Amino acid sequence: MTVAAHTPTSKNSEAVGEAARRRTFAVISHPDAGKSTLTEALALHAAAITSAGAVHGKGDRKGVTSDWMEMEQARGISITSAALRIDYDGHVLNLLDTPGHADFSEDTYRVLAAVDAAIMLLDSAKGLEPQTLKLFDVARNQGIPVITFVNKWDRPGREPLELLDEIEQRIGLRPTPLNWPVGIAGDFRGLVDRNGGGYVKLHRTPGGATKAREERLTDEQAARLEGPAWEQAVEELELMTEIGADYDPESFLAGKSSPVMFGAALPNFGVAQLLRTLVDIAPAPTPRADNQGRPRPVEAPFSGLVFKMQANMDKAHRDRMAFVRICSGRFDRGMVLTHAATGKPFATKYTQAVFGSERHTIDTAFAGDVIALVNAQSLRVGDTLYDGPKVEFPPIPSFAPEHFAVARAIDVSRYKQFRRGIDQLDSEGVVQVLVSDVRGDQAPVLAAVGPLQFDVVKHRMEHEFNAPIELAHLDYGTARRTDPDSAPALHGLSGAEVLTRRSDNELLVLVHNKWRLKVIQRDHPDLTLDVLLAGG
Ligand code: GDP
Repeated sequence: MTVAAHTPTSKNSEAVGEAARRRTFAVISHPDAGKSTLTEALALHAAAITSAGAVHGKGDRKGVTSDWMEMEQARGISITSAALRIDYDGHVLNLLDTPGHADFSEDTYRVLAAVDAAIMLLDSAKGLEPQTLKLFDVARNQGIPVITFVNKWDRPGREPLELLDEIEQRIGLRPTPLNWPVGIAGDFRGLVDRNGGGYVKLHRTPGGATKAREERLTDEQAARLEGPAWEQAVEELELMTEIGADYDPESFLAGKSSPVMFGAALPNFGVAQLLRTLVDIAPAPTPRADNQGRPRPVEAPFSGLVFKMQANMDKAHRDRMAFVRICSGRFDRGMVLTHAATGKPFATKYTQAVFGSERHTIDTAFAGDVIALVNAQSLRVGDTLYDGPKVEFPPIPSFAPEHFAVARAIDVSRYKQFRRGIDQLDSEGVVQVLVSDVRGDQAPVLAAVGPLQFDVVKHRMEHEFNAPIELAHLDYGTARRTDPDSAPALHGLSGAEVLTRRSDNELLVLVHNKWRLKVIQRDHPDLTLDVLLAGG
């Protein structure tokens, strides 16, 4: 149990103070925009690691099936990039990793349910790419404030004004630049701080393995040194001021405007400014609403949300780890928490903090932090853990699956392993598992947002659970939520089938395609066909 070392009041003020110095965020980007490079650069600048490359080292990365699985194989070590803690200037920055591939956007959704802000990372030559758009939609759905970082300014790219215009036109987010580049993309000279911080001239360091040298210059010095590039930047800055594109905290926090920064992660240009910005303007953890809609203050007793489950990270012990975002209170290792879904106690003796590829035991943590609970067999993604009086956070909504397949054990004598594996992958949220009396337990339907999720299931069923499976793809392309009153009628229709989603007992009706769905809706307006969260 918690050691009552503090009086209630000092404990409260400690929890408030610790939460206030935390920033918990994720980077959303299209693959190759530079997320890993930026992560390393942020950590480097915060002096959390000594040279770039120590965190991710993607040199030998082969594919996209599952980053951690591949990396684990390639490097023969246990690695997780679930969360990275960066200590910086009296603050604690928790950077939560998001999977790169579109097929895993449901995982990203869960991560975004656990952060307080996001960095939208753009490649200066490409602007808004498909995956950025999709992930931005998710961030908007969750009401997360977004800071935009335009990366790779050291390479030829687009005009800054054109990029801002694209952000405004395509996603309706009002861009408010915090800094402004001097020199076009590809001939990057330095950054003007729009908040009166003057001009920072950037000097390249070979290889980008150490901090870029930054030199502060007066406007006069900058004008002399940069000539026409400076004049152009000054003109553009005047335009920004004229159109009122100034940083506005209120609309930023409401997800209506986005502070924009230019830079280049690889040579570490503008990364220090981004760190500073995170600390200065990204929100600290705020009260999270429980399933009754009541905001739970950060100083309330411990509460946390499971946003990610990961199995088998340590080959030595077959293990399941739950990543928990702390929403309130103080965590002390050894506390016995309550699992809201079952009311059962959960011991936290072996809790770990995750730091890049290292894991170490953690003793205390506060709102905004991520802790990794080992032996978390009983937990599911979306679950709440708490101390004291009961609290439960609303479930993290599931995406509408668009790919469906029946799973069967190739070797029927391995049904027990098959069952265990499917259960586990279900609770980790790797795929959604749908069942019905008609199909029976031996042949559950797996539902996915992207087909790569099926590859992960096949791989893990064979290698982790020793129960190779075959998948028979079903000719359904869309799903809606229904209810027990409508289910029998829907089940009788051709091109439709009703199943129960095991994780939340929702009734889902699978339909061949959107056209068939429209016909059903037209002919049976009385039947319940609710839209699920859009994913694909
Ligand atoms: P991720 O897929 O988003 O994690 O992208 P990576 O961090 O792996 O970067 C993709 C490629 O872009 C790599 O070859 C990086 O070296 C390169 N890159 C990332 N940031 C920059 C940058 O600021 N400038 C330049 N020139 N290249 C960059």
